[in-house]
Amino acid sequence: MIYDAIIIGGGPAGLSAAIYALRARLNIVLIEKMAVGGQIALTDNIENYPGFPSLSGVELMQKFEEHAKGLGLQIIYDEIKDITDDGEYKTLRGVNENYQAKTVIITVGASPKRLNIPGEREFTGRGVSYCATCDGPFFKDQDIAVVGGGDAALKEANYLTKIVKSVTLIHRRKEFRAEKIIQERLHNAKNVIMQLEHIPVSINGDKTVESITIENVKTKERKTVPVKGVFIFIGINPQTSFLKNIEKDERGFIKTDPYTLMTSMPGVFCAGDAHSKKLLQVATAVGEGALAATAAEEFICDVC
Ligand SMILES: Cc1cc2nc3c(=O)[nH]c(=O)nc-3n(C[C@H](O)[C@H](O)[C@H](O)COP(=O)(O)OP(=O)(O)OC[C@H]3O[C@@H](n4cnc5c(N)ncnc54)[C@H](O)[C@@H]3O)c2cc1C
Repeated sequence: MIYDAIIIGGGPAGLSAAIYALRARLNIVLIEKMAVGGQIALTDNIENYPGFPSLSGVELMQKFEEHAKGLGLQIIYDEIKDITDDGEYKTLRGVNENYQAKTVIITVGASPKRLNIPGEREFTGRGVSYCATCDGPFFKDQDIAVVGGGDAALKEANYLTKIVKSVTLIHRRKEFRAEKIIQERLHNAKNVIMQLEHIPVSINGDKTVESITIENVKTKERKTVPVKGVFIFIGINPQTSFLKNIEKDERGFIKTDPYTLMTSMPGVFCAGDAHSKKLLQVATAVGEGALAATAAEEFICDVC
């Protein structure tokens, strides 16, 4: 079977693309390697998606999924490992099988960046975490550290202040990049200890995390803070390393035409966190999913 479009990834961008493609009556399938929902399903509360002043990431993504399934979305669970352009159609090599489509919409998003310091890999799952909603409750009434200074770091730190005894917030700069409203909220929390202009140098422990060693970026002075958990939110890496034939920037984000979101491979589009842009949020991912699906429909009409 040759689909009109295959969407790779079931996060906000992929489900938005699916809704638009299905309403255009395209014959599509969405391929997801893990669980539908994407990164936003990992957050406890989303407050900046228009129309929904406050709900959990899981709740929001359930609404997206129900909407798409209501239009007849078919989801296949498989991981795509490669895309090749075979002229009239593209071939997608999956772990389980191969798929063919006239167009492809890549919405593979991103995964958390690592600090790459001693102890991080060793203690992942034993005190080191990249998901506050998933692991926060394990640290009830304990001292923990959060690393990062952007929206995700401060939002997740704020969530953790309600569960844990104290949050040591480690950020390499003097000021945060996060939205002002999130910063204000965190400044009001009583159990936050700010360690600005500090970077983590090692995560220490025996079987589980016992402390984190941090260094002042100016004086190079080091100190060790006793903590049971370290939550890391220092940005993301696009999940695009498997795409060998598509042009990317130096950080691995896919380059696209700004008007159509078409990549360097004709008929292959990219939306959401996987492509190069300024703001990585659900609102932008959703808008781009809609745009990519519409451009894919036009591409099929132009070549048919
Ligand atoms: C902790 C945290 C808190 C956040 N809070 C907010 C917030 O409050 N508001 C907001 O707007 N945004 C927030 N964001 C950002 C938001 O989650 C992302 O911008 C959004 O999820 C991007 O959507 P996406 O569809 O591009 O990618 P993703 O959500 O990353 O989804 C990509 C999907 O593709 C799948 N996939 C990847 N590779 C393959 C493959 N090879 N084959 C098949 N499937 C594949 C993945 O499993 C995943 O399900 C937050 C992010 C984090 C990490």
